[in-house]
Amino acid sequence: MIARNEVIVAQEMLQVMGLRSFVPLVTACPGCGRTTSTVFQELASKIQTYIRVQMPAWRENYDGVEDMAVAVMGCIVNGPGESKHANIGISLPGTGEEPAAPVFIDGEKAMTLRGPGIAEEFQQIVETYVDSHYEKRA
Ligand code: SF4
Repeated sequence: MIARNEVIVAQEMLQVMGLRSFVPLVTACPGCGRTTSTVFQELASKIQTYIRVQMPAWRENYDGVEDMAVAVMGCIVNGPGESKHANIGISLPGTGEEPAAPVFIDGEKAMTLRGPGIAEEFQQIVETYVDSHYEKRA
């Protein structure tokens, strides 16, 4: 029997190879010495779960949403660059950085999130992006 996680990994491999899109791609930094906090890993996990939960409804209602790319990065050194290559990206503060998380939409800095509600605010931004950038099915 194939486990659910194995199916997800297989789908992600096909997607990364450009063979087929199943869900929006979330690029998350693995973390390194530039960040001592696990906040960004928790946020990346929350966002990935959120996208997987939302995807059945999005795919039913919006054309092409499975091609969306989301980046959740852990510091100001590489975060903004990677975020600019995604449709929507967030760069969380690394060690010693100002506690602010700039958000990039289609390569441009759109806003900066602060405080304990960053995950929820970012999810709402993704939701709004999906609704405004992908054609609604009739
Ligand atoms: S984005 Fe920053 S924190 Fe994440 S792996 Fe790269 S350098 Fe490290």
